[in-house]
Amino acid sequence: MSDVEQCVFCRIVAEDIPALRVFETDEVLAFLDVNPLADGHTLIVPKAHVVRLEEMSGEMLSRLTSVIPDIARAVIAATSATGYNVLQNNGRDAGQEVQHVHFHIIPRRPADGLGYRWQAGKYTGARATEVQNLIRNALG
Ligand code: AMP
Ligand code: ZN
Repeated sequence: MSDVEQCVFCRIVAEDIPALRVFETDEVLAFLDVNPLADGHTLIVPKAHVVRLEEMSGEMLSRLTSVIPDIARAVIAATSATGYNVLQNNGRDAGQEVQHVHFHIIPRRPADGLGYRWQAGKYTGARATEVQNLIRNALG
């Protein structure tokens, strides 16, 4: 079976398996996450199969992300959330379980227990400028 044939989000796009759809265009589909972190947890996906964000053109990504404000407003209105996180994981080491680009809209409330702070580090010595130069050089 090809990647697309076995991809759960491609199968949802193709209506091969069910999902609770909330919004769609020719290129974009939004539906409820089946295992929500909170009521209204919504996923926004491109209809085309793309595994990671950096594989998308800027134009394709901007058409995908352009729907986020409307969907976020609707999710907030529907759930009375006071905030939301936009989460987008790339690669298994970053927690990407479904290998098809998706943005999570995760509604938040006071003391909802979900948390969000990661353990931050500090640069020492010249490491920050080394990394800055590595990234600038990689950008060309
Ligand atoms: P990630 O860890 O960023 O890859 O997130 C994948 C998300 O997809 C998880 O939050 C899952 O609960 C969700 N998910 C997996 N299968 C389905 C499905 N059939 N319908 C809706 N959401 C799904
Ligand atoms: Zn797919």
